[in-house]
Amino acid sequence: MTASCKHCIDLLVDYVDGALPPDQQSTLDGHLHGCGACEEFLATYRATTTLCKKALAKEMPESLANKLHAFIQQTVGAVKKG
Ligand SMILES: [Zn+2]
Repeated sequence: MTASCKHCIDLLVDYVDGALPPDQQSTLDGHLHGCGACEEFLATYRATTTLCKKALAKEMPESLANKLHAFIQQTVGAVKKG
């Protein structure tokens, strides 16, 4: 089964959180394996969330956390459109 990039990016947030059902996760795994664009997006997304978590651990103001979250959502939205 193949999945489109758009579909994968829709699932990516849950994928990174480990919140996807196993069947969807394996679909996404398969797609990421063969799709450089999505793999790269995942790497960027992971790096960003890791930075966020580090920053949060250091006590990030809630307003800043919300802004960062909005930024990530925007980035995801931009990729979906592209
Ligand atoms: Zn893709």
